[in-house]
Amino acid sequence: MNFIKDYEIVCGLEVHVELATKTKIFCSCPTTFGAEPNTQCCPVCTGMPGTLPVLNRQVVDYAIKAGLATNCTIAKYSKEDRKNYFYPDLPKAYQISQYDLPLCEHGWLEIETDKGTKKIGITRIHIEEDAGKLIHDDEHGTMIDCNRCGVPLIEIVSEPDIRTAEEAVAYVKKLRAIIMYTGISDCKMNEGSLRCDVNLSVHKKGEPFGTRTEMKNINSFTFIQKAIEYEYKRQVEAIEAGETIVQETRRYDSAANKTFSMRKKEDANDYRYFPDPDLPPIIMTDKAIDELNRSIPQLPDSRKADYIEKYGLSAHDAEMLINQKPIADYFEAAARLTEYPKLLANMMISELFALLPPDSDEVKIPIDGAHMAAIATMSGEGTINSSTAKKLLRTIYEQDDDPVRIVKEQNLAQISDPVILQQYVDEAIAADPKSVAAYKAGKTAAAKAIMGKIMAKTGGKGNPVKLDELLTAALNKQ
Ligand code: ADP
Ligand code: MG
Ligand code: ZN
Repeated sequence: MNFIKDYEIVCGLEVHVELATKTKIFCSCPTTFGAEPNTQCCPVCTGMPGTLPVLNRQVVDYAIKAGLATNCTIAKYSKEDRKNYFYPDLPKAYQISQYDLPLCEHGWLEIETDKGTKKIGITRIHIEEDAGKLIHDDEHGTMIDCNRCGVPLIEIVSEPDIRTAEEAVAYVKKLRAIIMYTGISDCKMNEGSLRCDVNLSVHKKGEPFGTRTEMKNINSFTFIQKAIEYEYKRQVEAIEAGETIVQETRRYDSAANKTFSMRKKEDANDYRYFPDPDLPPIIMTDKAIDELNRSIPQLPDSRKADYIEKYGLSAHDAEMLINQKPIADYFEAAARLTEYPKLLANMMISELFALLPPDSDEVKIPIDGAHMAAIATMSGEGTINSSTAKKLLRTIYEQDDDPVRIVKEQNLAQISDPVILQQYVDEAIAADPKSVAAYKAGKTAAAKAIMGKIMAKTGGKGNPVKLDELLTAALNKQ
């Protein structure tokens, strides 16, 4: 991102993740997404007086898994608190959350930046219940859907360690990856199972941190990037104009690409937090924590280390492959089928990723892994050149097919025979005395022009390295 003068950014994220439990956090209502409004609620989750909550054990286990996967310390003694506020989507007028004794604290994760690997601190992870949803329409006004009331969430609060929009995106991508690998949430941003609040302040280099604003519920990587860029500029311009930044909650409007003030920020004491008297404390033993730890599968960073070691990939490239589990699984399966896994990785990152829909919640690669591996093998063995490899990939992305057969049928094999290549070179030189003269007069670009014509003549199939050698030699003999 672009910085203005010497204004730096400080950014911390609060990420809400909906847990993939079958039932809600304090009752047995189902959590299925997209059901008819108000068909998945009961007296408990709609906050009827006299009802009592019973904590869903799976919620605790899932939250602890998230904590273990992000290097947190797990609390042996933790409790739930009431956060009191009024809003029409919150029938009880309080949300059961955790205040001073969260389940997980002091964690971290690693991201790749253009300056290398960076640690981002995780302050805490706590469990809480989701609120309902307000639906606004012209005919009926505002309606309330309570299906989401009581859906279990974890809130993951980061330290203010993020310094650019790119780092914020990388952090959320890594967090999403870790959580998806553990299997505790599907993290679908378009269905709201992963939502981000972005806290941002600016200050001049060397000065203390500025006052932060909080942008609520940002639900795509593109919007995180844009909201940060916009809010950074807005705060700098306000300060430059002599204004003071007030701590407030702002709404990011993606259509306008602007943030708007919503309300002055509440302080914790406005919420009158107190321990929920209906819920006993959560006690964890070492044995139970250990068992949860053992149930965590291989995590993204461990896979990343494998790729760097086994396949010689750069940290940056390895990160690109591990961030989505289906892609990492695909890469690993295909890599077993070729002697050229690094080429395979490059093809996936530079060609395939450009074809896949950006930021998709559910990646599906429409190419058989064996076909992808076959392109890497043909490319690595020199059967086809790199531009044919790219073309093939695009072709089978549209309609999957065996690339080896396509190469045979369409005669796409690379021409590496020096006798044949020499003929192409000699013909091109004879046909283009102007470019030859220009080359001899010192214009090296003229050689590129001749090369382009030769490549076209070979139907794009000439071996570029060999052709280059032969052409340079021939030109220097002229
Ligand atoms: P609140 O409940 O007021 O939102 P939290 O502690 O839940 O407070 O979250 C505060 C978030 O703001 C954290 O992610 C933290 O990293 C971030 N933060 C704290 N100070 C600053 C600052 N000066 N600039 C930007 N972000 C900040
Ligand atoms: Mg907060
Ligand atoms: Zn219920």
